[in-house]
Amino acid sequence: MDRIIIDELKKEFIAAANRAYNSKIQTGTGGNISIRVPGEDIMLIKPSGISFTDCTMDNIILTTLDGQVIEGDGKPSREAYLHREIYKLNDEINSIVHCHAPWSIAWSLREKVLDTITQHAKLKLVNQIPVIDIIKPVITEEEIHKILCHYTNNTILKAFLLKGHGIVAVGSKVRDTEYLAELIEETAQISCIDRSM
Ligand SMILES: [Zn+2]
Repeated sequence: MDRIIIDELKKEFIAAANRAYNSKIQTGTGGNISIRVPGEDIMLIKPSGISFTDCTMDNIILTTLDGQVIEGDGKPSREAYLHREIYKLNDEINSIVHCHAPWSIAWSLREKVLDTITQHAKLKLVNQIPVIDIIKPVITEEEIHKILCHYTNNTILKAFLLKGHGIVAVGSKVRDTEYLAELIEETAQISCIDRSM
């Protein structure tokens, strides 16, 4: 475990969390962000009950991919299980941004996919974003297969919507993953407006 690398990743984490909050894709204490330490089975994740704007070098949690807390105040986000299971699938995924973005949630209530209706979305997302219907408010072992089935054969699904819940974006660098979440929210907003015309 390299202290310098972990502290650098924490700084990237705080920057992405603040940007997500300031972009209004997450309010209050909801949502969560994680970063896997590249090449290791450990990850940084937001503490439960803490706002994106209140993440600090001291309270960001470091855990193993088996759920053992190594450092950080408080408890890991309730969605830590989802993050850990996605990291175990593919070594190229090193960051996950999950947020309760309002336009994306509105779109997910009545639709099965979010189409890449703008030119920018076509460029960056390439494929449709599926809406996955998870019954419980937190992902559990009983329902995780509904998500993991999209990652078979080394496929990396860049993002999906949880019905009535929000965005999950995955990627390599957390800054880019947060940008991706913003793009999905922008695409969902335009889609909602387009549908209402
Ligand atoms: Zn959530």
